Amino acid sequence: MASPTDLRTEGALPVLRRVFGYDAFRGFQQDVIDHVVDGGDALVLMPTGGGKSLCYQIPALVRDGVAVVVSPLIALMQDQVDALTAVGVRAGFLNSTQSLDARRRVEAAFVAGELDLLYLAPEALGVRSTLALLDRGRISLFAIDEAHCVSQWGHDFRPDYLALSMLHERWPQVPRIALTATATSATRTEIASRLKLDDARHFVASFDRPNIQYRIVPKREPRKQLLALLRDEHPGDAGIVYCLSRASVDKTAEFLVANGIAALPYHAGLDATTRAANQQRFLREDGLVMVATIAFGMGIDKPDVRFVAHLDLPKSVEGYYQETGRAGRDGLPSTAWLAYGLQDVVQQRKMIETSDGDLAHRRNLAAHLDAMLALCETVRCRRVQLLEYFGETSTPACGNCDTCLNPPESWDGTVAAQKLLSTVFRLDRERNQRFGAGHCIDILLGKHNDKISQHGHDSLTVFGIGSELSEAEWRGVVRQLLAEGLLAVEGDYGTLALTDTSADVLGRRRTVTMRREPERPTSSRSSKPR
Ligand code: ADP
Ligand code: ZN
Repeated sequence: MASPTDLRTEGALPVLRRVFGYDAFRGFQQDVIDHVVDGGDALVLMPTGGGKSLCYQIPALVRDGVAVVVSPLIALMQDQVDALTAVGVRAGFLNSTQSLDARRRVEAAFVAGELDLLYLAPEALGVRSTLALLDRGRISLFAIDEAHCVSQWGHDFRPDYLALSMLHERWPQVPRIALTATATSATRTEIASRLKLDDARHFVASFDRPNIQYRIVPKREPRKQLLALLRDEHPGDAGIVYCLSRASVDKTAEFLVANGIAALPYHAGLDATTRAANQQRFLREDGLVMVATIAFGMGIDKPDVRFVAHLDLPKSVEGYYQETGRAGRDGLPSTAWLAYGLQDVVQQRKMIETSDGDLAHRRNLAAHLDAMLALCETVRCRRVQLLEYFGETSTPACGNCDTCLNPPESWDGTVAAQKLLSTVFRLDRERNQRFGAGHCIDILLGKHNDKISQHGHDSLTVFGIGSELSEAEWRGVVRQLLAEGLLAVEGDYGTLALTDTSADVLGRRRTVTMRREPERPTSSRSSKPR
């Protein structure tokens, strides 16, 4: 093992080879490293698994002093430090989980300059004693990991990150490198401005993950669909299943276990010990399926996650991309599978409508959801649409996603949309009533059930005018109208209501192109066999 002095006179490439055992840099790693070693600020956007860590770890070894790494992932600090120690790098961390003794040792090592990297939680930098400690040592650089946590619009917002702008004021001569796998240009601009990275060079990698196959399927019996995916395509593979609620995490994990799949739950409602134990098992054992809320996964470095399945709709494309990005970090073929249905749209629109925060905040949530819905409803290549969202245009169709492999048909849904919207209109204007999607569809299908007769809805002129479509197809119609904002959901019961643009469809000023539901259990129309 070379002494620290040797490392510092060595170039970046020999350090990569000798310390980390890799032959060559990937992508623009070397450019970032050279820039930071020379004292420049950098903002690095690279997809998960792209190799962001080396972008600050190597400068930490090459520059004089101790690199201070700010990371929100307290649970992973021990792992990160262990991994570095194993290759002879001198690393330590300070966080709320460690003993006073351990803390004192790390502090002493920092002041004596006997560390290459010091990991800190962002909240530590709000504590005066930590700042005083940092003043007593020599800092080579600041690395701000998961830098998108500073974005107030983002789904991982951490208030402590806002205070990190003071790093520049307090230590103006120390270079800073901010890193994230979240990629829209809006987020990038926000990170740069909130962290005062005015002169930082931006390094933006392609966000394509060619080994991930993207698939979005209609949700019918989600747990059974999931089980079929695991049995048919991923037997014995490690993977992550994301659910929206803790309750559905628990139920799904139980369901999988009952069906012979080695699954573990993970959500914020479990005690810390269970959570940590489940995470450790997932990382260390082969072929476990982690069923989790999105509380799980940030910073998880498990290369052989073969699939990421979503049983509920993510709230944004950024979230979807980050979560699916945990699949296939080893570059081998992996699946990103999402089951998506009408209820998801109703539920998420309702959540936005009833959420705290001002109008601007709700609009922002709605815009993020709309982009996610557009990805679900697209008839184009999923990858092309995903990359366009992140500002990468002119990517060719991938040939490997569900829409490339099985191009969805589109159909003129204008008349169907008019029928559905008139039903909502009539209930509202003639009866002053509002109902959910299920009841409106029952009216269109002409069903004679209790609720229909109780309200006398069999006497509506729209009763039974929709028998040309199946119930599943009608649900697809409602879903797509909701996705396009031609229909709205309101209140705690998710009742349907018209929007400003509904009138354009009712008044024949606008046509509606719809995506054909891939499976059509009952239908009289002839169509391409599947
Ligand atoms: P990120 O933080 O961007 O998600 P990591 O820094 O954890 O990614 O790197 C992902 C994986 O790729 C790690 O296992 C890492 O050791 C490996 N890696 C990074 N850079 C290189 C390289 N130049 N050559 C080979 N492997 C690399
Ligand atoms: Zn494609």
